[in-house]
Amino acid sequence: MPRYQLRYYDPDGHRHGGLPTFPWRFAPEGLATRRQLRALGLCPGGHPPVAQVMWRRGGRNGHRDSVAYLYDLAAARPKRTAGPAVRAALGKAMTARRTCPSCGQVCGYVIPRRYGECLDCAQPRHTWGAVA
Ligand SMILES: [Zn+2]
Repeated sequence: MPRYQLRYYDPDGHRHGGLPTFPWRFAPEGLATRRQLRALGLCPGGHPPVAQVMWRRGGRNGHRDSVAYLYDLAAARPKRTAGPAVRAALGKAMTARRTCPSCGQVCGYVIPRRYGECLDCAQPRHTWGAVA
């Protein structure tokens, strides 16, 4: 391990904010960066990072530490991204649920099942706000 990388070697996370820290390319197996997860069609699945890799960016003068978080591959979940066809179908279904069968109006809300029509149509037949 090159000498400058030693300061990034901190498996217990004492020096780098509590997260186990490894130099770039020295991270243990079973961990992956978000970018690596994405390449595998995975996402962190709501889990926080379990470690981080650090490396030095820049030249001899004014270099900076770079950090990438590492996620547990075993906890990763398949990324669920709806394709355009799925999104269109979902949108259509939602529009249908917001369309009043009586007046054909697309409302800003889902048609209440108990009325089966929009509130404008249902209103005259129900005593809105009336004290029973
Ligand atoms: Zn209506």
